[in-house]
Amino acid sequence: MKSLKGVKVFTSEVERAKKAAVLKVGSETIGAAREFLAEEGFVELLPVIVAPITDPLRHNTDRAVIEAYGGHWHLTRSMIFHKQAAVTVCERIFSFSPNIRIEPPDWGKTGRHLWEFVQLDLEVRDGTREELMDLGERLLVYVLERVRERCADELAFLGRNLRVPQRPFPVFTYGEARKRYGDDFEVALSREMETPFWIIDFPVDVREFYDREDPERPGVLLDYDLIYPEGYGEALSGGEREHLLHRIQERIARQGLDPSQYRGLLELAERGLPPSAGFGIGIERLIRYICGLPHVAEARLFPRVPGELSVV
Ligand code: AMP
Ligand code: MG
Repeated sequence: MKSLKGVKVFTSEVERAKKAAVLKVGSETIGAAREFLAEEGFVELLPVIVAPITDPLRHNTDRAVIEAYGGHWHLTRSMIFHKQAAVTVCERIFSFSPNIRIEPPDWGKTGRHLWEFVQLDLEVRDGTREELMDLGERLLVYVLERVRERCADELAFLGRNLRVPQRPFPVFTYGEARKRYGDDFEVALSREMETPFWIIDFPVDVREFYDREDPERPGVLLDYDLIYPEGYGEALSGGEREHLLHRIQERIARQGLDPSQYRGLLELAERGLPPSAGFGIGIERLIRYICGLPHVAEARLFPRVPGELSVV
């Protein structure tokens, strides 16, 4: 029988105390992020759980589709297209968005992947890469400072000495990181660095079609990933977005995707989508980093680990 990670937590007093500390830290993490974003003028949207369109995520071949009312509905992989639509209404939005991604079973061992997780997903109308990277740094520093103040006992109990990094964080381009550290540059750099850092300028074909290609440098995207130090890996991904109909059509065609799958997005773009930029930061990974946990599953009470079954 496969191991049942989901129930292990309820078996011993020590496990329960540790889990209670992690959940308290998680709760303060979410609260601090909400506080910060409210102060910055963001409006919180309720999450989209099922929708006719969702993030293509070409690495992910899951069939997480349900049928209802004669239509097909994807379980949300990310709220990307709904965020682009939402900024036509409100200038700055965020959502704690539950995502379902049926990741390959062996990803259960990376320490970083769940198949149900929550992104703090945000978007800013007329936002630029520079603004959003600045916002991401300030959000992370704010959350780490508040959690250190409010959860000193829990962090001590978990044995975590959490450092609050100095801004601005170092920036590497994808090209230079790859040249210096090879294909596994993200893991190598994450282990070596002592502060969070950015990777920018991903090549157009390694990312999804909605991240905006730099008009001045064809083939290079105006996007950014934030990576945690101490080997914890990727924290967030974001970018400026393609918002013009013909650009979206070109990028969909270039990736060999079926435009009929993105009809809703194309209709929105035809009516006019504003320029925007945003990012999504994985909440469980953030809690894992704050608490210094070996596996992201430990950040949740009922984790969904790729390849594992659960009774609750
Ligand atoms: P993405 O746009 O795919 O990079 O997802 C945005 C963020 O969500 C990532 O930077 C991670 O923090 C988080 N994330 C993505 N996939 C997973 C996963 N399978 N398990 C946990 N967190 C994830
Ligand atoms: Mg990413």
